Amino acid sequence: MPLYEYFCKSCDGMFEALGAVSRAQEPAPCPACGKKAGRIPPTSFSAFTMRDGYPRSIPDRGTYYHLGKEVKRRITGPVRMNEHPEINKPRPKPRKTKHDLDVAREKKQIAAREKARRSASGLAEIIDRSARDDD
Ligand SMILES: [Zn+2]
Repeated sequence: MPLYEYFCKSCDGMFEALGAVSRAQEPAPCPACGKKAGRIPPTSFSAFTMRDGYPRSIPDRGTYYHLGKEVKRRITGPVRMNEHPEINKPRPKPRKTKHDLDVAREKKQIAAREKARRSASGLAEIIDRSARDDD
């Protein structure tokens, strides 16, 4: 028998229960309050808003759901769209290659040489806003 997901409207709870395929559309009794709960179509899982805006599971383990996946904590800081820090681990910063470092060093040397040349010539310093560290 497949496992179905149900949502109890009377106690805002979500639970899973085994059910026969022939009775998949019928409601199941809620394990928390005993009232009949309707089945959640798999695709609408993330559309529910319950405890603090997150669906609650029965038995209530004090956890939350993020796009159908159980998580321990709610999102508190900034994250990418649809990502959760417990599910999507922070990506490591791309490492700079030797070539990148060489280019950066060369750019710095050229800039320093140019600055020295300008200050030696007595001209006003030009602030170049087109050059950035990350390009
Ligand atoms: Zn209930």
